[in-house]
Amino acid sequence: MIRSANTPLGLWQFAPDEGIHILDTAGDRGRWRPLVVSIALTRLCHKECAFCYASAGSGRDGGDSLWPYDDLITLIADLDKNGVFCITLGGGEPTLWQDPSTSRTFYDLVDEIHHRFSVAVTFTSSGSAAVAYDRLPYIPVRLSCHEPGEVEGVLRSARQMRERARCVGINLLLWRTRLDECRLAVRRLVNAGFHDILLLTLKNVGRGAAHHSERVDPEELARWLRTLDLDFVRLASCDPVPAMMSSDMGCGSGDWFLSISEQRVVKSCSFVDAGHPLHELSYEGLVRASLNLPRMTCYRPFTDSPLIKQPWHGPAGTRV
Ligand code: SF4
Repeated sequence: MIRSANTPLGLWQFAPDEGIHILDTAGDRGRWRPLVVSIALTRLCHKECAFCYASAGSGRDGGDSLWPYDDLITLIADLDKNGVFCITLGGGEPTLWQDPSTSRTFYDLVDEIHHRFSVAVTFTSSGSAAVAYDRLPYIPVRLSCHEPGEVEGVLRSARQMRERARCVGINLLLWRTRLDECRLAVRRLVNAGFHDILLLTLKNVGRGAAHHSERVDPEELARWLRTLDLDFVRLASCDPVPAMMSSDMGCGSGDWFLSISEQRVVKSCSFVDAGHPLHELSYEGLVRASLNLPRMTCYRPFTDSPLIKQPWHGPAGTRV
Protein backbone atom coordinates (compact mmCIF):
# COMPACT_ATOMS: atom_id res chain seq x y z
CA MET A 1 0.00 0.00 0.00
CA ILE A 2 1.39 3.41 -0.96
CA ARG A 3 1.32 6.00 1.82
CA SER A 4 1.37 9.72 1.10
CA ALA A 5 1.52 13.04 2.91
CA ASN A 6 1.50 16.68 1.88
CA THR A 7 4.70 18.19 3.21
CA PRO A 8 6.31 21.64 2.89
CA LEU A 9 8.14 20.23 -0.15
CA GLY A 10 5.04 18.86 -1.87
CA LEU A 11 3.41 15.43 -2.04
CA TRP A 12 5.61 12.74 -0.49
CA GLN A 13 4.74 9.15 -1.36
CA PHE A 14 6.24 6.01 0.11
CA ALA A 15 6.00 2.49 -1.31
CA PRO A 16 6.99 0.29 1.65
CA ASP A 17 7.39 -2.95 -0.29
CA GLU A 18 10.00 -1.40 -2.57
CA GLY A 19 11.36 1.04 0.04
CA ILE A 20 10.97 3.85 -2.52
CA HIS A 21 10.25 7.48 -1.65
CA ILE A 22 8.84 9.80 -4.33
CA LEU A 23 8.62 13.53 -3.82
CA ASP A 24 6.34 15.47 -6.15
CA THR A 25 7.47 19.04 -5.71
CA ALA A 26 4.58 20.25 -7.87
CA GLY A 27 2.11 18.67 -5.41
CA ASP A 28 0.11 20.53 -2.76
CA ARG A 29 2.07 21.83 0.20
CA GLY A 30 1.32 20.84 3.78
CA ARG A 31 2.95 20.92 7.19
CA TRP A 32 5.59 18.63 8.58
CA ARG A 33 4.24 15.79 10.63
CA PRO A 34 5.72 12.50 11.89
CA LEU A 35 6.16 10.09 8.97
CA VAL A 36 8.90 7.82 10.30
CA VAL A 37 8.95 6.97 14.02
CA SER A 38 11.82 5.15 15.65
CA ILE A 39 11.08 3.32 18.91
CA ALA A 40 13.92 2.15 21.16
CA LEU A 41 12.54 -0.96 22.84
CA THR A 42 15.30 -1.52 25.37
CA ARG A 43 18.78 -0.46 26.42
CA LEU A 44 19.70 -4.10 26.92
CA CYS A 45 22.65 -5.06 24.73
CA HIS A 46 25.41 -7.54 25.43
CA LYS A 47 27.86 -5.94 23.03
CA GLU A 48 28.45 -3.03 25.44
CA CYS A 49 30.38 -0.93 22.92
CA ALA A 50 32.68 1.60 24.56
CA PHE A 51 31.26 4.36 22.32
CA CYS A 52 27.55 3.52 22.59
CA TYR A 53 25.46 6.68 22.24
CA ALA A 54 22.56 4.93 23.99
CA SER A 55 24.83 3.79 26.86
CA ALA A 56 23.34 0.32 26.39
CA GLY A 57 24.53 -2.63 28.43
CA SER A 58 23.78 -5.94 30.08
CA GLY A 59 23.16 -4.62 33.60
CA ARG A 60 19.83 -3.94 35.25
CA ASP A 61 19.69 -0.45 33.75
CA GLY A 62 19.99 -1.92 30.29
CA GLY A 63 16.83 -3.95 30.72
CA ASP A 64 14.92 -1.04 32.15
CA SER A 65 12.31 -0.58 29.43
CA LEU A 66 9.01 1.19 30.00
CA TRP A 67 7.38 -0.54 27.04
CA PRO A 68 4.86 -3.26 27.78
CA TYR A 69 3.67 -5.10 24.66
CA ASP A 70 0.11 -3.77 24.75
CA ASP A 71 1.25 -0.15 25.04
CA LEU A 72 3.42 -0.54 21.96
CA ILE A 73 0.53 -2.00 20.01
CA THR A 74 -1.83 0.77 21.19
CA LEU A 75 0.59 3.48 20.07
CA ILE A 76 1.53 1.84 16.78
CA ALA A 77 -2.14 1.19 15.91
CA ASP A 78 -2.83 4.92 16.22
CA LEU A 79 0.29 5.91 14.29
CA ASP A 80 -0.85 3.53 11.55
CA LYS A 81 -4.36 5.02 11.55
CA ASN A 82 -2.85 8.49 11.13
CA GLY A 83 -0.76 7.59 8.10
CA VAL A 84 2.73 7.21 9.58
CA PHE A 85 4.87 5.61 6.86
CA CYS A 86 7.26 3.46 8.86
CA ILE A 87 8.14 2.26 12.36
CA THR A 88 11.79 1.48 12.97
CA LEU A 89 12.62 -0.58 16.07
CA GLY A 90 15.95 -0.11 17.79
CA GLY A 91 17.63 -0.13 21.16
CA GLY A 92 20.06 -1.35 22.63
CA GLU A 93 19.61 -4.62 20.83
CA PRO A 94 15.90 -4.68 19.97
CA THR A 95 15.77 -8.44 19.39
CA LEU A 96 16.47 -8.92 23.14
CA TRP A 97 13.37 -7.01 24.20
CA GLN A 98 10.49 -8.89 25.74
CA ASP A 99 7.54 -7.96 27.92
CA PRO A 100 7.98 -9.83 31.22
CA SER A 101 4.29 -9.48 32.11
CA THR A 102 3.06 -11.26 28.97
CA SER A 103 6.25 -13.10 27.85
CA ARG A 104 5.70 -11.65 24.39
CA THR A 105 8.91 -11.06 22.52
CA PHE A 106 10.38 -8.82 19.87
CA TYR A 107 9.38 -11.39 17.25
CA ASP A 108 5.73 -11.39 18.39
CA LEU A 109 5.77 -7.59 18.13
CA VAL A 110 7.27 -7.45 14.64
CA ASP A 111 4.90 -10.16 13.45
CA GLU A 112 1.83 -8.37 14.77
CA ILE A 113 2.84 -4.99 13.33
CA HIS A 114 3.59 -6.55 9.96
CA HIS A 115 0.41 -8.62 9.68
CA ARG A 116 -2.09 -6.35 11.40
CA PHE A 117 -1.16 -2.85 10.26
CA SER A 118 -0.34 -1.07 7.00
CA VAL A 119 2.55 0.87 8.51
CA ALA A 120 5.91 -0.56 7.42
CA VAL A 121 8.17 -2.01 10.10
CA THR A 122 11.91 -2.48 10.14
CA PHE A 123 14.62 -2.83 12.78
CA THR A 124 18.35 -2.41 13.30
CA SER A 125 20.38 -5.13 14.98
CA SER A 126 24.05 -5.22 15.94
CA GLY A 127 23.97 -8.94 15.20
CA SER A 128 25.44 -9.41 18.70
CA ALA A 129 22.44 -11.50 19.78
CA ALA A 130 21.39 -14.59 17.84
CA VAL A 131 18.62 -13.39 15.55
CA ALA A 132 15.84 -15.95 15.00
CA TYR A 133 15.56 -15.39 11.26
CA ASP A 134 12.84 -18.01 10.90
CA ARG A 135 10.56 -15.99 13.21
CA LEU A 136 10.79 -12.81 11.14
CA PRO A 137 8.26 -11.77 8.54
CA TYR A 138 9.50 -10.62 5.13
CA ILE A 139 10.60 -7.06 6.01
CA PRO A 140 13.62 -4.82 5.40
CA VAL A 141 16.26 -4.99 8.14
CA ARG A 142 19.50 -3.17 8.95
CA LEU A 143 22.70 -4.44 10.51
CA SER A 144 25.30 -2.35 12.33
CA CYS A 145 28.99 -2.54 11.48
CA HIS A 146 30.74 -0.64 14.25
CA GLU A 147 34.26 -0.77 12.96
CA PRO A 148 35.89 -1.95 9.75
CA GLY A 149 37.34 -5.05 11.48
CA GLU A 150 33.79 -6.32 11.95
CA VAL A 151 32.94 -6.38 8.30
CA GLU A 152 33.41 -10.13 7.69
CA GLY A 153 31.21 -11.05 10.68
CA VAL A 154 28.60 -8.51 9.58
CA LEU A 155 28.68 -9.99 6.08
CA ARG A 156 28.03 -13.49 7.48
CA SER A 157 24.97 -12.18 9.38
CA ALA A 158 23.87 -10.10 6.40
CA ARG A 159 23.97 -13.12 4.06
CA GLN A 160 21.89 -15.13 6.53
CA MET A 161 19.42 -12.29 6.83
CA ARG A 162 19.23 -11.85 3.08
CA GLU A 163 17.69 -15.32 2.83
CA ARG A 164 14.74 -14.15 4.94
CA ALA A 165 14.55 -10.36 4.67
CA ARG A 166 13.10 -8.15 1.97
CA CYS A 167 16.37 -6.22 1.90
CA VAL A 168 19.36 -5.77 4.17
CA GLY A 169 20.96 -2.38 4.76
CA ILE A 170 24.21 -1.79 6.65
CA ASN A 171 24.92 1.05 9.09
CA LEU A 172 28.68 1.62 9.00
CA LEU A 173 30.28 3.66 11.79
CA LEU A 174 33.19 5.76 10.54
CA TRP A 175 36.34 6.31 12.61
CA ARG A 176 38.50 9.32 11.84
CA THR A 177 41.81 7.49 12.28
CA ARG A 178 40.64 4.47 10.27
CA LEU A 179 39.10 6.01 7.16
CA ASP A 180 41.26 3.92 4.80
CA GLU A 181 39.98 0.73 6.45
CA CYS A 182 36.44 2.12 6.35
CA ARG A 183 36.83 2.67 2.60
CA LEU A 184 37.86 -0.98 2.17
CA ALA A 185 34.90 -2.03 4.32
CA VAL A 186 32.50 -0.13 2.04
CA ARG A 187 34.02 -1.78 -1.04
CA ARG A 188 33.80 -5.20 0.62
CA LEU A 189 30.12 -4.68 1.42
CA VAL A 190 29.34 -3.43 -2.07
CA ASN A 191 31.27 -6.26 -3.74
CA ALA A 192 29.26 -8.71 -1.63
CA GLY A 193 26.06 -7.22 -3.04
CA PHE A 194 25.02 -4.91 -0.18
CA HIS A 195 24.24 -1.58 -1.81
CA ASP A 196 22.35 0.25 0.93
CA ILE A 197 24.89 1.75 3.33
CA LEU A 198 24.20 4.38 5.96
CA LEU A 199 27.37 6.13 7.09
CA LEU A 200 27.35 7.13 10.74
CA THR A 201 29.84 9.27 12.59
CA LEU A 202 30.54 9.11 16.32
CA LYS A 203 28.24 11.32 18.29
CA ASN A 204 29.08 13.32 21.39
CA VAL A 205 26.31 11.54 23.29
CA GLY A 206 26.31 8.83 25.95
CA ARG A 207 29.56 6.84 25.95
CA GLY A 208 30.28 8.30 22.50
CA ALA A 209 31.45 11.51 24.24
CA ALA A 210 34.67 9.74 25.30
CA HIS A 211 35.53 9.09 21.63
CA HIS A 212 34.81 12.51 20.28
CA SER A 213 38.27 12.82 18.70
CA GLU A 214 37.26 9.98 16.31
CA ARG A 215 34.36 11.96 14.93
CA VAL A 216 34.59 12.58 11.18
CA ASP A 217 33.49 16.13 10.42
CA PRO A 218 31.39 16.95 7.33
CA GLU A 219 34.35 18.32 5.32
CA GLU A 220 36.41 15.18 5.99
CA LEU A 221 33.41 13.07 5.15
CA ALA A 222 32.93 14.90 1.85
CA ARG A 223 36.62 14.40 0.93
CA TRP A 224 36.45 10.72 1.89
CA LEU A 225 33.26 10.16 -0.12
CA ARG A 226 35.00 11.47 -3.24
CA THR A 227 37.62 8.73 -2.87
CA LEU A 228 35.08 5.92 -2.83
CA ASP A 229 34.49 5.82 -6.57
CA LEU A 230 31.34 3.68 -6.44
CA ASP A 231 28.40 3.30 -8.78
CA PHE A 232 24.84 2.30 -7.97
CA VAL A 233 25.22 2.46 -4.23
CA ARG A 234 22.71 4.09 -1.93
CA LEU A 235 24.96 5.95 0.48
CA ALA A 236 23.29 8.08 3.09
CA SER A 237 24.73 10.09 5.92
CA CYS A 238 23.07 11.93 8.76
CA ASP A 239 25.79 14.59 8.66
CA PRO A 240 25.45 17.51 6.28
CA VAL A 241 28.07 17.03 3.58
CA PRO A 242 28.93 20.19 1.60
CA ALA A 243 28.00 20.15 -2.08
CA MET A 244 26.33 16.74 -2.01
CA MET A 245 22.76 16.60 -3.20
CA SER A 246 21.52 13.99 -0.71
CA SER A 247 22.57 15.97 2.34
CA ASP A 248 21.36 19.24 0.84
CA MET A 249 17.94 17.76 1.55
CA GLY A 250 18.68 17.96 5.30
CA CYS A 251 18.14 15.08 7.71
CA GLY A 252 14.50 15.64 8.66
CA SER A 253 15.20 14.88 12.28
CA GLY A 254 12.36 16.45 14.23
CA ASP A 255 10.41 17.37 11.09
CA TRP A 256 9.24 14.07 9.61
CA PHE A 257 11.37 11.80 11.81
CA LEU A 258 10.91 11.30 15.55
CA SER A 259 12.56 8.98 18.01
CA ILE A 260 10.99 7.59 21.19
CA SER A 261 13.31 6.14 23.81
CA GLU A 262 12.79 3.02 25.94
CA GLN A 263 11.92 5.49 28.73
CA ARG A 264 9.15 6.93 26.51
CA VAL A 265 10.92 10.21 25.87
CA VAL A 266 10.19 11.76 22.48
CA LYS A 267 13.33 13.11 20.82
CA SER A 268 14.13 14.73 17.49
CA CYS A 269 16.84 12.15 16.83
CA SER A 270 18.12 8.96 18.45
CA PHE A 271 21.45 10.73 19.00
CA VAL A 272 19.95 13.47 21.20
CA ASP A 273 19.80 13.00 24.97
CA ALA A 274 17.00 15.43 25.73
CA GLY A 275 13.36 15.29 24.76
CA HIS A 276 9.81 15.49 26.05
CA PRO A 277 7.91 12.72 27.84
CA LEU A 278 5.23 10.92 25.86
CA HIS A 279 2.16 11.25 28.07
CA GLU A 280 -0.46 9.77 25.71
CA LEU A 281 -0.08 6.65 23.63
CA SER A 282 -1.52 8.24 20.51
CA TYR A 283 -0.51 10.04 17.35
CA GLU A 284 -1.81 13.33 18.78
CA GLY A 285 0.15 12.69 21.97
CA LEU A 286 3.27 12.18 19.88
CA VAL A 287 2.68 15.38 17.92
CA ARG A 288 2.13 17.31 21.17
CA ALA A 289 5.33 15.92 22.69
CA SER A 290 7.27 16.82 19.54
CA LEU A 291 6.69 20.58 19.79
CA ASN A 292 9.93 22.57 20.29
CA LEU A 293 12.14 19.53 20.65
CA PRO A 294 15.88 20.10 21.12
CA ARG A 295 17.80 19.23 17.95
CA MET A 296 21.31 18.20 17.08
CA THR A 297 23.60 21.00 15.94
CA CYS A 298 23.95 19.17 12.60
CA TYR A 299 20.21 19.54 11.91
CA ARG A 300 19.28 21.55 8.84
CA PRO A 301 15.67 22.01 7.84
CA PHE A 302 14.54 20.76 4.45
CA THR A 303 13.00 24.13 3.83
CA ASP A 304 16.50 25.69 3.84
CA SER A 305 17.67 23.27 1.17
CA PRO A 306 19.15 25.01 -1.88
CA LEU A 307 17.50 22.27 -3.92
CA ILE A 308 14.02 23.60 -3.40
CA LYS A 309 15.01 27.21 -4.11
CA GLN A 310 16.29 26.30 -7.52
CA PRO A 311 14.15 25.29 -10.47
CA TRP A 312 13.85 21.55 -10.75
CA HIS A 313 14.74 20.29 -14.22
CA GLY A 314 13.62 16.71 -13.79
CA PRO A 315 10.47 15.17 -15.26
CA ALA A 316 7.16 16.66 -14.12
CA GLY A 317 8.51 18.11 -10.88
CA THR A 318 9.13 14.71 -9.38
CA ARG A 319 12.22 13.69 -7.42
CA VAL A 320 12.98 10.10 -6.56
S1 SF4 B 1 25.62 -2.81 19.73
FE1 SF4 B 1 24.65 -0.80 19.49
S2 SF4 B 1 23.23 -0.65 21.22
FE2 SF4 B 1 24.67 -2.33 21.67
S3 SF4 B 1 26.27 -1.36 22.93
FE3 SF4 B 1 26.96 -1.34 20.77
S4 SF4 B 1 26.28 0.69 19.97
FE4 SF4 B 1 25.16 0.29 21.88
